[in-house]
Amino acid sequence: MKGIKILAAGVLVGVAALSAWAGKPLIVAHRGYWDAPGSAQNSLRSLVKADSVGAYASEFDVWRSTDGVLFVNHDSKFKGVTACEASSKVLAGVVLDNGEPMPTLKQLLTAAQSLPDLRLVFELKEHPDKEAEALAVKEGIQMVKDMGLADRTDYITFSKEALVNFAKYAPEGSLVQYLSGDLTPMQVKVVGGNAIDYHIGVLRRHPEWIKEAHELGMKVNVWTVDRPEDMQWCIDSGVDLITTNQPVVLKGLL
Ligand code: MG
Repeated sequence: MKGIKILAAGVLVGVAALSAWAGKPLIVAHRGYWDAPGSAQNSLRSLVKADSVGAYASEFDVWRSTDGVLFVNHDSKFKGVTACEASSKVLAGVVLDNGEPMPTLKQLLTAAQSLPDLRLVFELKEHPDKEAEALAVKEGIQMVKDMGLADRTDYITFSKEALVNFAKYAPEGSLVQYLSGDLTPMQVKVVGGNAIDYHIGVLRRHPEWIKEAHELGMKVNVWTVDRPEDMQWCIDSGVDLITTNQPVVLKGLL
């Protein structure tokens, strides 16, 4: 009898642990883990650091040069160079704050190949030239596939056009997430997206979208959550992924 009681208690503890784990949001390092010694936003180092602190995924931003090379960087204008108006030769000469050259997408994906436990969140920046943007979607997805990373890459964008194109071309199993926050989950689903990735302020104004997304079979990601009280609100609200500049702080909370 005592044995059965111990066994039953063990099962209960196990179930509780499992459900707590299942309910925990996953950590996405925003622009890699850059707030660390020797790192910089969207650097190769930040990708390695995101992996080393146990982030589930690392997010990065992609621009297409005038001659069709995909580069990883956030700002449309960085160190005096406007990414989508510059050639690959010019972009390759831009130096990040940690001394690394601005990486191409290919260089970043090459680095990711040796980090098998890290998922990738590929943000395509909104390009004024919609033709170049559409090409960047196709070229980006193709490169991810060619480098054997299709099964661990998700896509995010502020651009409605790129959202539609990612939904069309991304492989099955990839999350295609919309960032702008001006569509309901249903509206995102209608154009082919399978996740929302909204600013914390948007989800605080529309907490009902979390439930709506889940009822539609969609995932919920939230950016950029750096304050512990916001992290706790996201955890309590049942979001699936939290994008943060502070992955170590979030990991501590979880
Ligand atoms: Mg981004």
